[in-house]
Amino acid sequence: MNIHATVEEMRAASRAARLGGLRLGFVPTMGALHEGHLSLVRAAIAECDAVAVSIFVNPLQFGPNEDLAKYPRTFERDCELLRKEDVDFVFAPAVEEMYPEKAITYVTVEGLSEKLCGRSRPTHFRGVTTVVAKLFHIVEPDLAFFGQKDAAQAAIIRRMVLDLNFSVEIIVCPIVRAPDGLAMSSRNGYLSPQERKSALVLYRTLQEVQRNFDKGEHNSKGLIEAGNKVLRAETGVRLDYFEIVDPDTLDPMETIRHPALIAIAAFVGTTRLIDNVLLSP
Ligand code: AMP
Repeated sequence: MNIHATVEEMRAASRAARLGGLRLGFVPTMGALHEGHLSLVRAAIAECDAVAVSIFVNPLQFGPNEDLAKYPRTFERDCELLRKEDVDFVFAPAVEEMYPEKAITYVTVEGLSEKLCGRSRPTHFRGVTTVVAKLFHIVEPDLAFFGQKDAAQAAIIRRMVLDLNFSVEIIVCPIVRAPDGLAMSSRNGYLSPQERKSALVLYRTLQEVQRNFDKGEHNSKGLIEAGNKVLRAETGVRLDYFEIVDPDTLDPMETIRHPALIAIAAFVGTTRLIDNVLLSP
């Protein structure tokens, strides 16, 4: 496994792989790897001849009062895990390598970036699309793998790729959960044992919506009410949003006639967690 810290080195390595006829898969991450990330790596290895993983905690996607400074950084362990999976390239640039100058050029997917997490994190998705666009230019992958865990991010990246003619196929992989149902996240490590118990209400709420949907309730208002009953019973969480939206446009859906995304975000203590489930009529 080759670890590259510069744009030039990474680009040379991925170009050589593609010139050699290899189909190159790419998994962008912020490190602190867990089974969710590794599921993307395994999907990439199954579909591609060579796989690159980036580890970069992207300052551009953090708001001024968010957790950039304390975000977990476990580089040595991450590399060990990736080596075991047989990853070919790790791209781990320093912030100064990715942003030698203060960024003044951004990629913004207007109309999507303000929705869901974008409402309470107004510059978040702009930071994500800008760094992913940069990473796609550097790595030039044939396929790139993202998690359904960040459903809005996946929708926004799909749209960016479409609108800007990136020549990469986006693959979205299912959410990996801990045995207790909590969606795996690098931020779960912030939770105290008590907070972790409270955090389970997110998935319980989504499951309650799914149950009501399966019983025939296809009206979003009714489904949200059912979910809210479960949510309100747990005092340890402060809701950010709980919505039923179109998975591509992220617009609210009143009645569910085609696949819908139930998305939830909440603070458990000071930790912000997100989760979602797709409903298919
Ligand atoms: P992050 O390191 O948080 O930026 O995540 C990197 C990639 O891993 C993103 O595409 C995420 O959606 C994906 N990911 C994170 N957690 C999970 C999970 N529990 N299941 C599936 N994919 C995940």
